[in-house]
Amino acid sequence: MDKQHPDSAYSSSVPTITTPWRTLLVLCGPAGCGKSTFAQRLVEQHTHHALRATTVVSSDCCRALVCDDEANQQVNRDAFDLFHFIIQKRLLQERFTIADSTALQSQARLKLLELARRNHYSSLLLIFNISAPTCLQRDLERRRSVGEKVIARHTQLLQQTLLAAPNEGWNQVYTLDEQNENVQLNII
Ligand code: ATP
Ligand code: MG
Repeated sequence: MDKQHPDSAYSSSVPTITTPWRTLLVLCGPAGCGKSTFAQRLVEQHTHHALRATTVVSSDCCRALVCDDEANQQVNRDAFDLFHFIIQKRLLQERFTIADSTALQSQARLKLLELARRNHYSSLLLIFNISAPTCLQRDLERRRSVGEKVIARHTQLLQQTLLAAPNEGWNQVYTLDEQNENVQLNII
């Protein structure tokens, strides 16, 4: 793989995470914090690393695939079956993969960690430590809003996640915050 990011100015201004091609990158954060936006930008910045829109496996898309409604929490069981199934198949194909879900419950994270381990993948957890007011503001500005209650619950889970994640066994845990929401990924 090409190790050089094409934009050297960008490279020098943000922190760098170096990770192998065989990585499951797990995004983790409250609704509205910017996970899907980040994933899309990462793909756009890494077309030279063969990242594509299909690199991102999203729980919202899996909900939509099973019931045509990405917000329908009633189908979570089937949607997450599909989410894990697609990720498993991608890892078997040795594809770099981004898991886009809130991953705020320890069980949800451990399932993804287990998928990475079982497939001899490196596990990279990226936590979005974004405040409730900011998530709420972003949530209100988008097409589909989840609302204040959901974001408050997610913010509580985020605090638990920040404490628990370093001891869960990830190969790398990285936390983004509002002062620094960008990171450069160096895929080797
Ligand atoms: P969900 O868990 O509900 O899918 P999410 O974490 O994927 O939420 P996004 O949908 O990516 O969140 O972002 C929510 C809104 O915030 C979008 O309208 C997006 O354009 C905006 N947004 C994302 N990142 C930023 C940022 N760094 N600065 C300002 N606005 C942002
Ligand atoms: Mg999203």
